[in-house]
Amino acid sequence: MPAAGEVALWSDHSLDRSVGALYVHVPFCKSKCAYCDFSSRATSADDPLLAEYARAIEAQLEAFADVGLLDRSDTAYVGGGTPSRLGPALPPLVETIRRLCSPSELSCEANPESLDGALARSLARAGASRISLGVQSTCDVELRALGRAHDAAEALAAVSRARDAGLTVSCDLMCATPEQTDESWDRSVSDVIAAGADHVSVYPLAIEEGTAFGRRFGDDAQPWNDEDVQARRMKIAREILASCGFARYEVASYARPGCRCAHNIAYWTGVPYLGVGTAAAGMLTRRGYERLRLACPQLPDAPGGVVRIRLTVRSDARQIAGDPRTEALLFDGEFLSEEQAAAEDLMLGARLVDGVSPALLGHARDVFGPSRLDDTLESVLGSGLAVLEDGRLRPTESGWLLGNELYGSLWSLSSGEVTSFSA
Ligand code: SF4
Repeated sequence: MPAAGEVALWSDHSLDRSVGALYVHVPFCKSKCAYCDFSSRATSADDPLLAEYARAIEAQLEAFADVGLLDRSDTAYVGGGTPSRLGPALPPLVETIRRLCSPSELSCEANPESLDGALARSLARAGASRISLGVQSTCDVELRALGRAHDAAEALAAVSRARDAGLTVSCDLMCATPEQTDESWDRSVSDVIAAGADHVSVYPLAIEEGTAFGRRFGDDAQPWNDEDVQARRMKIAREILASCGFARYEVASYARPGCRCAHNIAYWTGVPYLGVGTAAAGMLTRRGYERLRLACPQLPDAPGGVVRIRLTVRSDARQIAGDPRTEALLFDGEFLSEEQAAAEDLMLGARLVDGVSPALLGHARDVFGPSRLDDTLESVLGSGLAVLEDGRLRPTESGWLLGNELYGSLWSLSSGEVTSFSA
């Protein structure tokens, strides 16, 4: 049996026709950060598009609930972009999610410059249980270099406001950034802990093509971002967080007891989820996808042998606000075979401290055959990327640092190309 919080579709078919998690994307921000390649755009706070988009998403959620897709959604996450940029239009959206899914965990992302006390309290009243705050740093020089729209004082005040409203608070922090030193990073991690964060996620900065940093730095190696710096800063964070009672449960996530993010755990344990809003990604079982097609008949039939469908909403925010009908949505998608879905589950499970469960390893053995699976396991164990403990395949520290190597080995078990489609 999978452990609690580890309900995976390969062992729990009760989610076969539905989704276990809901993601809603809000693509608006105050300004565009220098490193950002997310689907987001700078939008003025008084742009009518904000409220129109929120209402359109509420209408789409009603349509997905009408076909029974949201009956079993145990977690919901409103991400972005900057959901708090919606201002007063955000609590009604949260209320709609609460009414349609009654999730046990409902998270909203927010940025410090747009989370005042009134909004934090309204979100809590509307049914949000967590806030994920984009803090990134508590050093003003670093924040300016990243192009963030807030300063350190605003960030720490936002943590307190969210806590005062009764919300569980998660803070995102970014390391290996311009102007950062080991000391300033130590201070950022310590500051958010002292301000009362319950959960901290730490990420090394990635310089992506198409961003302001991508244009400025290109492929030139930046000393502040090199792999040794990233590894050292992740280690500093790990040590400070561990000494303050935070347990690491995923490659980048640390939580006080009882404060793990169930929604993110759902992503890493094969729980089917629905993505709503522009650029939102979803992952459905074949039968869940058939149910989605009742609301979105424009989607093609899944070919035989497909067990998992990945979808991304291609319609942009204006298209969604202008025509909220789910029949009008544009999608990009991928059809995955049983082998591809099993390889993906192994890869995702390898991000977790708990690792890949014996149940999933048993399923993978059935799908790939014992010799193929054992050859791959031997290779990742032999290179020190993972260990087998109590029947679980757990990543080692070097498996986390060399994540792409570990995930690549597990993904290579799958055969054939993933079939893509657009609708
Ligand atoms: S706030 Fe987040 S989503 Fe918005 S531009 Fe900055 S990094 Fe991107």
